[in-house]
Amino acid sequence: MTKMAETPATDFIRQIIEEDLRTNKYGGRVHTRFPPEPNGYLHIGHAKSICLNFGVAEEYGGLCNLRFDDTNPTKEDVEYVESIKRDIRWLGFDWGDREFYASDYFDQLYEYAVQLIKAGKAYVDSLSPEEIRQYRGTLTEPGKESPYRNRSVEENLELFERMRAGEFNEGEHVLRAKIDMASPNIVMRDPILYRIRHVPHHRTGTKWCIYPMYDFAHCISDSIEGITHSLCTLEFENNRALYDWILDQLGLYHPQQIEFARLNLSYTVLSKRKLLELVERGIVNGWDDPRMPTISGLRRRGYTPEAIRDFCERIGVAKKENLVDIALLEHCLREDLNRRAPRAMAVLRPLRVVLVNYPEDRVEELEAVNNPEDPGMGTRKVPFSRVLYIERDDFREDPPKRFFRLAPGREVRLRYAYIIKCVDVIKDEHTGEIVELRCTYDSETGTGPPPPGRKVKGTIHWVSAAHALPAEVRLYDRLFIKENPNEVEEGKDWLDYVNPKSLEVLTSCRVEPSLAAASPGDRYQFERLGYFCVDPDSALGRLVFNRTVPLRDTWAKIERAEQGRSR
Ligand code: ATP
Ligand code: MG
Repeated sequence: MTKMAETPATDFIRQIIEEDLRTNKYGGRVHTRFPPEPNGYLHIGHAKSICLNFGVAEEYGGLCNLRFDDTNPTKEDVEYVESIKRDIRWLGFDWGDREFYASDYFDQLYEYAVQLIKAGKAYVDSLSPEEIRQYRGTLTEPGKESPYRNRSVEENLELFERMRAGEFNEGEHVLRAKIDMASPNIVMRDPILYRIRHVPHHRTGTKWCIYPMYDFAHCISDSIEGITHSLCTLEFENNRALYDWILDQLGLYHPQQIEFARLNLSYTVLSKRKLLELVERGIVNGWDDPRMPTISGLRRRGYTPEAIRDFCERIGVAKKENLVDIALLEHCLREDLNRRAPRAMAVLRPLRVVLVNYPEDRVEELEAVNNPEDPGMGTRKVPFSRVLYIERDDFREDPPKRFFRLAPGREVRLRYAYIIKCVDVIKDEHTGEIVELRCTYDSETGTGPPPPGRKVKGTIHWVSAAHALPAEVRLYDRLFIKENPNEVEEGKDWLDYVNPKSLEVLTSCRVEPSLAAASPGDRYQFERLGYFCVDPDSALGRLVFNRTVPLRDTWAKIERAEQGRSR
């Protein structure tokens, strides 16, 4: 059953589709496509487009193609093709057997170009690239016609054939549409349709040395595939006139193009050019660096496909560009992980604690809850012994007001275990650094409620020193310090906004022994610290975790404040 029967359309695109279904515009068909150019890795902005295109097809019982718009061999690569397919699958979408490539249509596209030439609608121009730029005019000034614009059909056909045969150098000639050099829409000022590139293509090899421009290939590919609703981002609004012109001249079937606002995310850049620059300059460690907004980066960071899809649903689609708060993305992630991630105890900056009244050779196996949100996830045993590690931050020699954790002479509850009291602080003779705490434990205070009259406000996490596993933990912060790093102030460069402290590596962490079996991609909530996942850099005997996101949810706070205001 299609969505139409269930709930009303939630956005303007679905409204258009429902209207088209009602009027039987495409014979009841809904056929979309996701058309990446394989010149980079997919990012969270692409996820918005993927969720929209595949989502709409699914909801209305239609189909969605995956089509690679691979018209620029100088920038494209199979590495990107493979990563794009992996990422779409990981997000949970399936293109079935409909994996297409614009390059599959190169023969057809060539024939269509010839058809335009024969109709007097395209010509070979021999101006230099620089001259073509100058002749194009500006937003306020009309362009100038090329002196080659009125070549005869025969001459154009011959030149175009020779371009294809490889007789010319790059930039010597191009094929242009013959439209209107004075059009207020610059896209329509005799746009280039074909250019010479003596570069092999990752799919067609050396068969071609002329390649169609994106605009020419894109609209014809949509038409060939019988796409009904060609959903794209706003910057293609002006190109729609050209797509219509090309398809009209060739007498081809028209999909309906609908533009929506692209996703912009705070503290993030989403342009492939910029992402590539971050990779090439070594500012990040590759496309899948957990700080990158790429799908592969988010995956490695510990994001779930469910959280990303939830995010895309919540932001919706609209006609107007805006900047989405990255806190919303993190909120969606926390909601999902809170439900699913098993809890564990880990100490990131260990401080040794010796329980002076606990027998030396005793080990207890204490029961810990795996997920308080989901009793079905059961419990596990955590070893407890005389020497523990706690978080350095959880002790203050001189505690400020409202510090309810450990301090000299004070008590604190150990999660799933006893109440302990700090009786002594051991310091390094030379540096004065605190190296160990001596504590007593209260054997009367097992995992049950504290004895009557005992008020212990704080609960802290811990691991048993003899049993804990060493681990490396990588803490990530925003990659940019400016809310919108795309808005560059005068005299600055967007790279000036890179956060120099976006990565902190902690190498002496300790995690509870149940994590010995953890494998790359596994996600946990480390109690009181946040969500973490196992990095692929982990190897036998070396655990590496990425902090996916800390626990504090700034978005939930914003939401609560807004609800408070509207009440
Ligand atoms: P970029 O501008 O980052 O280089 P692109 O638009 O050139 O990206 P494509 O591979 O051509 O990248 O994009 C494939 C599809 O994804 C297009 O339909 C494009 O409109 C859409 N898309 C790209 N970026 C975003 C975004 N930030 N939000 C929504 N959709 C996007
Ligand atoms: Mg593009």
